[in-house]
Formats: sequence, C-alpha cells, structure tokens
Amino acid sequence: MTTDFSRTKKLFHMPQGMIYLDGNSLGPLPLAAKARVAGMLTAEWGDQLIKGWNSAGWMMQPRRIGDRIGKLIGAAEGTIVMGDTLSIKVHQALASALELKPKRRVVLSDNGNFPSDLYIARGLLKSLDRGYTLEIVEPEEVEAAIGDHVAVLMLTEVDYRTGRLHDMKALTEKAHAAGVLTVWDLAHSAGAIPVDLTGAKADFAVGCTYKYLNGGPGAPAFIYVAPKHQDSARPALSGWLGHEAPFAFDLDYRPGAGIDRMRVGTPPIIALAALDAALDAWDGVDMADLRRVSVALTTLFIDEIEKRCPELVLNSPRDAAKRGSQVSFRHPQGYAVMQALIARGLIGDFRAPDSIRFGFTPLYIGEAEVRAAVGIIEDVLTRRLWDAPEYHRKALVT
Ligand SMILES: *Cc1c(COP(=O)(O)O)cnc(C)c1O
Repeated sequence: MTTDFSRTKKLFHMPQGMIYLDGNSLGPLPLAAKARVAGMLTAEWGDQLIKGWNSAGWMMQPRRIGDRIGKLIGAAEGTIVMGDTLSIKVHQALASALELKPKRRVVLSDNGNFPSDLYIARGLLKSLDRGYTLEIVEPEEVEAAIGDHVAVLMLTEVDYRTGRLHDMKALTEKAHAAGVLTVWDLAHSAGAIPVDLTGAKADFAVGCTYKYLNGGPGAPAFIYVAPKHQDSARPALSGWLGHEAPFAFDLDYRPGAGIDRMRVGTPPIIALAALDAALDAWDGVDMADLRRVSVALTTLFIDEIEKRCPELVLNSPRDAAKRGSQVSFRHPQGYAVMQALIARGLIGDFRAPDSIRFGFTPLYIGEAEVRAAVGIIEDVLTRRLWDAPEYHRKALVT
C-alpha cells in the first residue's frame, strides 16, 4: 500500500466528538477549501471582477476540474465537463443518448436507481411525446432485460440504499451487443470505488461531487461523453456556453466542439474553487488502496454489527465484491434509531422505509471510528435509547 491515509485524514475538518459515517451523502469540509474560497473571493472576484473570466481562468474551470475528476474515474482528458446539478446532467445525458438511437423507444433502468434519475427520465420522455416508455426492473434482472428494443440503459452503478454494485463493464458489453447505449450515474462511485469509464466503454456518465468527492453542499456535477459520441451527441439543453462561439452572440445555435457542448450556462466559480481544493486531497491516492481499505472497513462493520446487534438486518450485499463503500441495515424503527445515534455523535442517515445507512470513506475514516461507531449502535439498541418521543419527529431532510 502506498497511500498514506493518516495524511489525507489531516486534510479535513472533523468536529470534535463526531463520528462521521455520512460522507456518502455530504463529504466533510476540506481545510484547503476555506483558504481557497476566501482567496478566490478577495483576489479574484474582489480585485479582478469581470476580468476574472480571463485573467483568473474562470471560463476554463469546468474543463480543468473535469479533467481532474477524470483521473479518478478512468476518463481521458477532454471527456468531462462540470456544471449544474446531477439531476440536470442525467437529463442531458439521457436526451443525447436517446437521440443517437432514433428508432428505439425504451429506456431501461432498475428500481435501485435514485428517484431523481427516474423522475428526470419520466419528465424527459413525456416532453419528447414520441411513445417512449421507461422499463424498470429488479437490479438482478437488468442483464436479462437488455435487448434490441432498448434504446438506452440508464443505471446508477452503486445503489444509494443498499450499496449494491452493478458490473459496469459486463452490462455495458451486453448493452452494446444489443445496440443499446449506456448512461451510468456515478453518484456513489466517484471517489468511493475504482471506476474505469474508458475500460468499461461507457457511452455517457454523470455524477455529483458533494458526496465522496467532498466538494461541499450543492457542488457542481459532472458529465462524461465518450470520445466517439462527442461530435454526434446533440445537447438538448443548448445553452450559450455550449455554443461553438458564445461571444459571437449568433441567433442560431451551433454546438461547440467535443465535451464543451455539454456546458449550459455560467459556471458556479465559487463552488468550483471549493471543489478544486477538495480534489487536492486525492493527489497521491491510489484507488486500489482506497478500495482495499474501504472493503476492510465495511467488512469489519458488518461483522461486528451482526455479532453485537442481532436486531439489525443487513440490507447490503454480504459479498464485498458486490457492494460499494456504504452499508445499510434494516430496523422497523430505523428513523428513530438514526436520530438517537446522531444525538450520540454518530452521523449516518435514514432511507425510507426502514434503512439506516453508513458510508465508509478511507480518506478520513479508519478502523478506530468504525469500532467506536459499533459501540454506540450497540448501546443505543440494547438500551432502547431510540424509544424517546424526540427521536420520532421527522425532520425536513432525513
Ligand atoms: C445524490 C444523487 C442524486 C442527486 O441529484 P442532485 O441533482 O445533485 O440533487 C441523483 N442521482 C443519484 C444516483 C444520487 O445518488
């Protein structure tokens, strides 16, 4: 192992007394982001004002940072661009992919996909109004459901609830054999597991950067388009910054070259500065090392919980090779249990109907935190500490 995770741990702010197993939902603050954003605000926005688009390189940030993310997920330079939210990027990728398959009318996905991806797909298909259907199957049935009636296979690689991991390479290969294009959502993959978009021959991919990549709440999303599709994929959200010559201010739209056409409007420069600083933490991190530690931590957690908390039922694949970097357990009072854990300083989250979910992030979480977390969970369950009225009141965000 070459990665020094004691070094990366020091790069994050972790509040005293908190055990944070929710980096799969919102990564912690990278210390470098504070200075980077402050510097950007004063030296760039403050002193350079509109000149910053050129002099501080703002206009190139979505591409430059896209390339940095590309290194973590096996994407070549010039295949990723940043902007908007993940839901928007799902729309863009699916719309472009569908247009590349004009004779087919089915989008195939699974019921482990994140609802927003499915909502976006439904909305898009309705707007297109050409008889499209969204076919949703069980995750285990996806492979068998691929056929030459399908236009696009749209999947999230790691299930947000259970952590179940799809075989991206095998499913993409099967899809291509049937003439199907693929859209992969990497929300719970980028920064969580090794990803090789090039090797898997993925057509389109999208992901967010506020989860395992620690870019901060609402950090901009990314979109990947394989080189072979870049000049044929028509951008459905044809904004001015995806135009071939935005500052020609033509009345007609001509898509820009390559991945630039997936840009839409003005990029969020302050948020990109925070994300850029967050990505520094990945310099020198070997994704194979990350995976090894992640598997060790999730395995330890499952083993210890099953030994000490028999009332929790594993809701993640037992085989480490088939799960990402998160683990969930079921409990009929899952919501209250999680509130009681949070009150004790152990942060995870709850996913309806009955799952308590924990993310394992080797950059800043190690064996000591996992063992301490198990101790708290055991205590909360054996003493039924969750059974108090204040833990049953639902908050806006769970
Ligand atoms: C987190 C997540 C989203 C969230 O989308 P936003 O537009 O960033 O709110 C979408 N899809 C998946 C698979 C996710 O895990």
